[in-house]
Amino acid sequence: MFPSTRLRRYRKSKELRKMFSQPFPGSEKFVWPVFVIEGRNREIPIAAMPGQSRMTVDVLIKRLEPVVKSGIGGIMIFGVVENFQKSLDGSYSYRKDGVVQKAIREIRRNYPGLVIFTDVCLCAYTKHGHCGILDKNGDVENDRTLVSLAKMAVSHAQAGAHSVAPSAMMDGQILAIRNALSKAGFNDTLLMSYSTKFASNFYGPFRDAAASKPGKGDRKGYQASFRNLKIALKESVEDEKEGADILMVKPALCYLDIISKVKEKTLLPVAAYNVSGEYSMIIACAERGWGDLNGMAKESLMAISRAGADMIISYWANRYENIFLDKT
Ligand SMILES: [Zn+2]
Repeated sequence: MFPSTRLRRYRKSKELRKMFSQPFPGSEKFVWPVFVIEGRNREIPIAAMPGQSRMTVDVLIKRLEPVVKSGIGGIMIFGVVENFQKSLDGSYSYRKDGVVQKAIREIRRNYPGLVIFTDVCLCAYTKHGHCGILDKNGDVENDRTLVSLAKMAVSHAQAGAHSVAPSAMMDGQILAIRNALSKAGFNDTLLMSYSTKFASNFYGPFRDAAASKPGKGDRKGYQASFRNLKIALKESVEDEKEGADILMVKPALCYLDIISKVKEKTLLPVAAYNVSGEYSMIIACAERGWGDLNGMAKESLMAISRAGADMIISYWANRYENIFLDKT
């Protein structure tokens, strides 16, 4: 017998394939994570993340020009500081003249239409590299850390950030930051929570970029376990109750099921963070001649979008036009 259902009819020509295809996510759905350093006219390529660098603010302003022209929606700022600026409590993170605060002001001045997100976490600013303040046993002290995270978020809002994005995975961080923002008069600042952030093996290249590797131990004590689905989902549910405006799943590619499940449980926008390891492994594969770079990038971004992500935070964002040049 021959088949009566012939799905190949939908794919017969390029034109038919296009007609029946879901659209690719537009450039406005993308947020580009960037690493800013102190000083002027310096750009240090990140070996583990080809195509990405640590930049001083003046260089970033130049690099942003074509990226903004491509229509990307936003930028996510990470600060990278020198060792002498790090401390046990990470207090550099909420200085008015800190590197992130300066970057926010400059970006707003040059690109008023670009949505500015800032990462809110202490790990790039603490000597020990953990995401919070340690107690005498070396454990991260949740509630003392909340106070510092709130100060950091308010300082970013004061500098002009449109959205603050806490990533420390402390219990109650959304509520603490929401209250602090309201008290300081920032009722319109969006709060994007890294609500379900896993203790992942895919963060390696980022830690090189941000110089934020913990000196001792790991982050399994506060980041979600990829072997506990229910608690991972509850993290996002709780953050919504605490007042988050946007939820996030991080990483993205190994967690497409989680993106879909979080999406089913909320009416809030869901962001996905396509992390450094997910980016670098595609580049490494292409460099060995084992696959087409843009094709693999496009397919992975489409998967994240199809899983339900409304916004995609990705290192591919600064080459959106190359990746999606061929719209088929
Ligand atoms: Zn952190």
